[in-house]
Amino acid sequence: MTQMATDTTAVDELGSRYQLSAADRCDSCGAQAYVRATMASGELLFCAHHGAKFKDKLQPDAVEWLDESAKLTAS
Ligand SMILES: [Zn+2]
Repeated sequence: MTQMATDTTAVDELGSRYQLSAADRCDSCGAQAYVRATMASGELLFCAHHGAKFKDKLQPDAVEWLDESAKLTAS
């Protein structure tokens, strides 16, 4: 029987799913951004720390709230 290498495909799909990269920086402290808040006035980027800090205040008014902080625990 032929063995299929399915593991590498799963890793690639997981990596390409994220929209934020190391080039995206927190607007508050300059750390790598893991949260993107899309507001009516524009986009805000936050690290995991500041994303959690501002979430209660900003999320109700956000058009979209993208939270990729799961990357921190996944890798
Ligand atoms: Zn920050």
